[in-house]
Amino acid sequence: EYQDTNTIQERILLLLAGWRYSRHIQTELEKQRGLRTELTTAKEMLEHKVQQRTAELESVNRQLETLSITDELTGLANRRRFDSYWAEEWQRAMRQGTSLAVIMMDVDHFKNYNDHYGHPLGDECLRQLGALLQVTIRRAGELAARYGGEEFVVALPGATAQQAAETAAALLAAVEAAHIPHLASPVSNIVTISLGVATGFPNAGDERGRLITLADEALYPAKHRGRNCIAMTEMTGAPPGT
Ligand code: GH3
Ligand code: MG
Ligand code: MG
Repeated sequence: EYQDTNTIQERILLLLAGWRYSRHIQTELEKQRGLRTELTTAKEMLEHKVQQRTAELESVNRQLETLSITDELTGLANRRRFDSYWAEEWQRAMRQGTSLAVIMMDVDHFKNYNDHYGHPLGDECLRQLGALLQVTIRRAGELAARYGGEEFVVALPGATAQQAAETAAALLAAVEAAHIPHLASPVSNIVTISLGVATGFPNAGDERGRLITLADEALYPAKHRGRNCIAMTEMTGAPPGT
């Protein structure tokens, strides 16, 4: 009988211990579940933040990329953009045996313009000329850029000399029609431009800057002839020794 009582007490104690242990386990499990939920939420928040920052960086990168190829003053393509475009078009023309034309455009007596109206109005004039280029040079594949200072350049892939001459004439007419006053110009009482046009079929022996140099050189006779006009030149075969 004594032994029986002992066994019952033991059993009760054992049961109690078991119950307390299972409660402890349950509490621990609940704590772990809570932690896991917190961790998941934190992870989701972090992922969201990373996604957001990545999108922001991508957008800033795109903006920087655009800035690096845009002329600040006129919004046209800049020299860097033109040069890489020209390199591509030169290669393409060589591969496909097609023609390539380039127009160099230089403002007449622009130093006088600055001296007479001041540099800020000179900038404004260049901006206006840039806008004229933007509306005149519209055909697919054509690219107008600010080459530097008061010089602009137009790439005309596939253009014949005749087509390039027509585009140059359209630019000359557009600038004339804009009637930008230039009272310090010996040529006219409005802003005028001179244009050098070079056309040709790129060959493997040619250096890709050759056509641009030719267009630039064509500016001299245009200036010499009294400005406000177009001078044409053709690239015929590679010069001897190249
Ligand atoms: P020409 O008819 O022979 O071309 O005469 P020009 O006076 O236009 O030629 P020149 O090269 O002597 O002068 C170019 C002037 O363009 C000088 C420079 O002050 C001006 N210029 C170049 N870049 C800018 C610019 O970004 N803004 C302003 N306002 N002027 C500029
Ligand atoms: Mg110049
Ligand atoms: Mg000039």
